[in-house]
Amino acid sequence: MGRLVGIDLGGTSIRAAVATGPTSYGTPVVRRATPASDGPRAVIDACAEAAREAAGGTPEGIAIGIPGPLDPTGGIVFAAPHLPGFENLPARDMLAEAAGCPVAIHNDSNLAGYAEWAAGMGRGTHSFVFVIVGTGIGGALIVDGNLRVGVAGTAAEVGHVPCDPDGPVCGQGHPGCLEGIASGTGIARQAEAALRAGEASSLPRDRPLDGAIIARAARAGDAVAARVYAEAGRALGRSFGGLINILGPEAIAVGGGVTGQFDLLEGPLRRGMAEIAFATPLGHCRVGKAELGSDAGLVGAVAWAVRSFPGS
Ligand SMILES: [Zn+2]
Repeated sequence: MGRLVGIDLGGTSIRAAVATGPTSYGTPVVRRATPASDGPRAVIDACAEAAREAAGGTPEGIAIGIPGPLDPTGGIVFAAPHLPGFENLPARDMLAEAAGCPVAIHNDSNLAGYAEWAAGMGRGTHSFVFVIVGTGIGGALIVDGNLRVGVAGTAAEVGHVPCDPDGPVCGQGHPGCLEGIASGTGIARQAEAALRAGEASSLPRDRPLDGAIIARAARAGDAVAARVYAEAGRALGRSFGGLINILGPEAIAVGGGVTGQFDLLEGPLRRGMAEIAFATPLGHCRVGKAELGSDAGLVGAVAWAVRSFPGS
């Protein structure tokens, strides 16, 4: 493997590790606080330093997952909501110069999905969909063994497919897309709207709701809480049904914070898939929880480094 390094860059922390195999990394994992408020140069320098420490010298190549829309081919980060100043930033070339080695950049959700395909729930498949459900909904598509990036890295926005023309607005302003209904934020907003409409519920009315509070209420028998999870599950399932019809994937993995509430979503999700998907591709597609959890980002970055720099 030479000295190939994967970096998982987040808004609060940087994790870096050296590759020891196609999907494995060595210890110790180098951790740094992200100096986000000091601007992009400081963040890039901290990543380069973490990579050098992980490699025990100058790395032979780095792959880094960055939380925002970006163009992996051009090496440009368009925006990163938790990293001030990462706007149209030539992050790949900046990190290559700071670290003294070639660099590949990718969106963090894409690399998490790549990890789930290479070493998690989707291993062994040729076509695979990863859906990460948290405050928003993102994902990754593997088609015939390749991570689909689309024009300027824009593919795999699985959270922004149409679900209900009269549905709530998502974080990006789309009326009725999946994210507005089935993300953690969407679930909380639907429950708050039901309370405002005067529906009877055990949910607290004096503070903001989140997915975990609503899940507890749903498990305790609260009808409003159970309904918003059922609606989220059905919306996820119908969108998965559409993806199954288009892509014919062998597996779909659901990751992110919502995996802890998968029990509440699963029944409506499976029924929703069957509403839309043709029987044959549905019968060939496994659907379940992602396996790597919070490790997916770093596994994906390491795996992408090995894939991007095969001669090292
Ligand atoms: Zn949307």
